[in-house]
Amino acid sequence: MLYNGSNVGSSTETPTAPGHAPLRAAVEGPVLLPDDIGYGQECRTFNLSRALTPAVVVGAASTRDVAAAVRHADRLGMPVAVRNQGHQMVLPTAEDALLITTNRLQEISLDSGRRTVRVGAGVTWAQVLAHTGRVGLAPIVGSAPHVGVVGYTLGGGLSPLLGRRLGYAADHVRWMEVVTADGAVREVTYESAPDLFWALLGGKGNFGVVTRIEFDVFPVPRFYGGGLWFRGEDMRPVLEAWRALTPALGEDTTTSFSVQRLPDVAALPEPLRGAFVLHIRLGHLGDGAEGARIAEPLRAAATPVLDTLAERPFAEIGEIHRDPVRAMPLVEAGFALREFSAATLDRFVELTGPDSGCPLKNVEVRALGGALDREPARPNAVSSRGTPYMTFAVGSGSPVQLRAASAFIGRYTRGMAPWRAPHHLVNFLSADDAPSEADVRDLYGAERYARLAALKRVYDPANMFRLNHNIRPAA
Ligand SMILES: Cc1cc2nc3c(=O)[nH]c(=O)nc-3n(C[C@H](O)[C@H](O)[C@H](O)COP(=O)(O)OP(=O)(O)OC[C@H]3O[C@@H](n4cnc5c(N)ncnc54)[C@H](O)[C@@H]3O)c2cc1C
Repeated sequence: MLYNGSNVGSSTETPTAPGHAPLRAAVEGPVLLPDDIGYGQECRTFNLSRALTPAVVVGAASTRDVAAAVRHADRLGMPVAVRNQGHQMVLPTAEDALLITTNRLQEISLDSGRRTVRVGAGVTWAQVLAHTGRVGLAPIVGSAPHVGVVGYTLGGGLSPLLGRRLGYAADHVRWMEVVTADGAVREVTYESAPDLFWALLGGKGNFGVVTRIEFDVFPVPRFYGGGLWFRGEDMRPVLEAWRALTPALGEDTTTSFSVQRLPDVAALPEPLRGAFVLHIRLGHLGDGAEGARIAEPLRAAATPVLDTLAERPFAEIGEIHRDPVRAMPLVEAGFALREFSAATLDRFVELTGPDSGCPLKNVEVRALGGALDREPARPNAVSSRGTPYMTFAVGSGSPVQLRAASAFIGRYTRGMAPWRAPHHLVNFLSADDAPSEADVRDLYGAERYARLAALKRVYDPANMFRLNHNIRPAA
């Protein structure tokens, strides 16, 4: 394999081999090549059907390590991939790449007076919740607290509870420390570098490696929420109730639903084991009586097989979706919807309902709106403002099951095409979504994409950070 003319990528190299030897001297964390013990663990991802096999991995132990790794990649002309928890690795292999893993960057500091939190790039939301929960403060966390703070926030950051009232997580970022493609360590605020600040937040991973980030947290000690699971056979009346309810909801209430074909495993509560169910999710910033009143038409539409709606401490936000936490082989696709009308509902039931033959484990639709549609005080490149709904479909299982699921995802995507909206959130793209520059341009919209591409030419002219939903440098 050739990088700028020097042969440095063979899998039989050791860290002392020509090419990567200077890395060992320059970084404190591990430097691992494909034959090294620990390489496989360092390259792990949440999607077991997408192993990463980069030429070299740097387990960054500090911002200095990240900068040294980026400078090394720059010298050798290598693309750089970044992984924290590994939920959204875009390339199946990344064989010619240098992978920087950030999970050792473990700083967390909470300033409860200023209501801000500063974290290193290896921190997950679950770790933040453990700190903020003690003082009744809440970050704009997503449905799955086990995902990384930085990847989530750079991709927008859509909360199943706070988003409609407060906007995206990216809208509340105050400060970032980032290593850009030239190896420089930059402190970025809206006031000091409005263009780079704008591009980093929404341009996910395209503009550098964010090593630390500071964001606002909010006084939300408790909420009302959880899930209502219904028999899959009852999905039509329940979805009709959901469809009628959703447009009338205030910004303090957020809801989504998911059609699930669940495995028969002890980790699930008894009524859900091996079951075909409709899972309605609800989060409400208010008391239980008010929340129960809002949920009333849903509870009345059919008899839930499981009802977990309750008042809870904010740290239990993961109970709204109860997303899976274990790595598994997956195929996925996500796109935005311009409406969820009676006709959309009919098609959705036809594609995923009891008579559909749908093998997918999870097909969800999230309702957005409210503050998610408003530009924040410190502008950013988040592309989904004005998008009313998003959908995401997931299949899992053996290679044969994955092939069937993949074919079905194609059917779902084609079936929902009449309602597809152009501007989607990058966090809800799978590795296979938006593969071409035209797709990424459609996702951001032509004007936003042109600004991103112009900034990419300034900050990453060689497109070092291209192992993502890539924004190409403008010509
Ligand atoms: C079960 C589940 C539920 C989810 N729910 C939500 C949700 O409710 N709302 C929402 O907005 N998203 C949601 N997501 C998407 C999730 O936020 C993103 O996939 C996020 O990137 C996952 O974090 P990670 O640490 O696993 O990222 P990784 O897979 O480790 O990284 C993904 C990408 O993020 C970028 N990146 C990561 N770290 C850095 C860094 N330090 N500097 C620069 N770029 C970086 C890179 O491009 C990288 O390829 C969900 C994902 C899952 C798996």
